[in-house]
Amino acid sequence: MRGWNGGPRLLLRRLREVMAEPIGAQARLDKIVVQIAFNMVAEVCSVYVLHADRRLELYATEGLKREAVHLTTMRVGEGIVGTIAARAEALALPDAQSHPAYSYKPETGEEIYQSFLGVPILRGGNILGVLAVQNRASRIYTEEEIEVLQTTAMLLAEMIAGGELQSLAPAGSAVLRQSLSLKGGVVADGVALGHVVLHEPRVVVERLVAENIDGEVVRLDEAIGALRESVDRLVDRGEEAGPGEHREILQTFRMIAHDRGWLRRLREAIATGLTAEAAVDRVQSDTRAKLMRQTDPYVRGRLHDLDELANRLLHQLTGQALVASNDQLPDNAVLVARSMGAAALLDYDRGKLRGLVLEDGGTTSHVAVVARALGIAAVGSVANITSLVEPGDAIIVDGATGCVEVRPGPDVEAAYAERVRLRARRQEQYKALRDVPARTLDGVDIGLHMNAGLLLDLPHVMETGADSIGLFRTELLFMVADRFPRPAQQHALYKSVLDMVRDRPVTFRTLDIGGDKVLPYMLRLDEQNPALGWRALRIGLDRPALLRSQLRAMLRAGAGREMRIMFPMVALTAEFDRAKALVAQEVAYLTRHDHPVPTEIKLGAMIEVPALLWQLDEIAERADFLSVGSNDLMQYLFAADRDNKRVSGRFDPLSAPMLRALRSIADAGRAHGKPVTLCGELGGEPLAALALIAIGYRGLSMAPSAIGPVKAMILAADANEAAAFVTTLLGEWNGEPNLREPLASFAASRGIPV
Ligand code: PEP
Ligand code: MG
Repeated sequence: MRGWNGGPRLLLRRLREVMAEPIGAQARLDKIVVQIAFNMVAEVCSVYVLHADRRLELYATEGLKREAVHLTTMRVGEGIVGTIAARAEALALPDAQSHPAYSYKPETGEEIYQSFLGVPILRGGNILGVLAVQNRASRIYTEEEIEVLQTTAMLLAEMIAGGELQSLAPAGSAVLRQSLSLKGGVVADGVALGHVVLHEPRVVVERLVAENIDGEVVRLDEAIGALRESVDRLVDRGEEAGPGEHREILQTFRMIAHDRGWLRRLREAIATGLTAEAAVDRVQSDTRAKLMRQTDPYVRGRLHDLDELANRLLHQLTGQALVASNDQLPDNAVLVARSMGAAALLDYDRGKLRGLVLEDGGTTSHVAVVARALGIAAVGSVANITSLVEPGDAIIVDGATGCVEVRPGPDVEAAYAERVRLRARRQEQYKALRDVPARTLDGVDIGLHMNAGLLLDLPHVMETGADSIGLFRTELLFMVADRFPRPAQQHALYKSVLDMVRDRPVTFRTLDIGGDKVLPYMLRLDEQNPALGWRALRIGLDRPALLRSQLRAMLRAGAGREMRIMFPMVALTAEFDRAKALVAQEVAYLTRHDHPVPTEIKLGAMIEVPALLWQLDEIAERADFLSVGSNDLMQYLFAADRDNKRVSGRFDPLSAPMLRALRSIADAGRAHGKPVTLCGELGGEPLAALALIAIGYRGLSMAPSAIGPVKAMILAADANEAAAFVTTLLGEWNGEPNLREPLASFAASRGIPV
């Protein structure tokens, strides 16, 4: 090594002292650069901070001309400093001027310095700036010097993230504190203004500088030992549960936990004078920065695994809690998480939750269903959100558009506050409609029903004035449970559903698992096309004991009242016959054992598989009612995965082929005197609901929040006039991909709110 004035540990200690001094931000930065230059025997030390407009600005320097501070800027990618920021990698150059990226900034007077060492200032893998030292003579910087400069950059990252430099920057511009407008996918409707709570709080490393390096190495080794043991235990338990994705992740964890390179990097970081936890934090930040620039999904997937493991290690070392606790929640909490299970969300204090933002997780994820039931605004698929926010940041979640505003400016905040007021006023108007019958101008009554799946949903029946629960997705109760509910537990669940809605009917749907709905405690099959695979009624018929135990629990719960049960994913009339036979068997069993049974049992078939469109007469004859699962019918009709963003938006349910298919179902129901309800998301969209009424639907089941808007539409519509309009539209159809425009102008011309 060329030389140290006191060594790296002394430098860290000095810097820590400077950090604690009660002085202004600029004075602190000025002192920091002096200390670093002195200690590292460099003539120059400079700090560049990244701004929102992707420019790096010189914030402090020892050695370059003072006038250049807050004047010299460069774009990310421009010059050597810009290259370091773009690559998030250190650069050590004995002869900087011969580097192809070298760009000369005359105001700094840097031309006399030959060698250059620069490192990125990183936090959570995000670039916040660049820290550089320069020497007059050509020299080779040692690995140790590079390490030390990187460690020092951590302190600066803390200063920038803490917001201290904000006073030196133009409003809203230093990068970490900047306002961000992010776009994700809609998960649950609603608008929330609140403050960030990280579901898995980042560990705050309070002790950066090691008092005793050997002691820190021992702490690290112990923590790694404990981590390996816990991962090994998880893998062993995973093996009992059977093969599946979960186990693959655990295997990856085990691989990383035993990875020598990782351990070596951690030890090297400690050797520069860091505590064990600071070393983990630093190594992870570096790794993150490198992997985040990779486009390969496999590599990025590993980043998640690495993050998860580093996080566990940090918790091990600091003893801080792994997930946020309810007493840490502010009154208007917006949870931010990489991913979250439905059960974890249910553990939070409902009274304090306003919103949820996820890096993963789309509309159909289980946590989405729970978010909707809880009535909190939620947005998913927001890339990198957990590293872009700090706990306590102001945040706005718009669950209607998928927008997330982080640290919004006053204008944005005011605009959203107005939206919230407007929505509240509209909700009041809908509430006023609660007891008004859903009758069109020409006197046609429409049944408005509610979709539910958790006990949490049930109070909405009374609040919205829904006629019944038109679809109770029983699998949701199974999805949030830790293990397959036993018959007695199922019976209790169904009974409490019926008790809670009192005299209103409930249409229970038997287990619709498989496809994207996976029970965590059940074997996960590796199917090529899960949506076309072993799911729903197919499982029920192949495993009759499972279906029978569910039917028995339902029938017992419905003793003494009317019971409505329907079967998902019927593809053949014969399947429905078999399901009916199982119900008959269960009724016989209960009667034989002197159990009371329902006064009346109505059995329905869900129409979700296109094959049923050519068995409509037969199925309508056999069933007591039909229920159209338009979400699945749509995906199978157009052969477009409902959860695949690339194709799901390409086809429109408000199109001639879909409406013609839907019309044939309504017609068959009418011809056979069997009620038909539609219970997919389509029915909750006022414009689509208008089209459905026009083609003959008299019952729609939807999310509770959709009932008000759909009822408002019905009250202003004339069903016969709409029917005539849509009949002409479908008759004269000329190949347009959707019929939204003519339908919307029809609605607008009649003053129908859609
Ligand atoms: C449907 O497919 O439209 C439906 C109501 O069922 P799910 O969304 O639960 O598949
Ligand atoms: Mg379905």
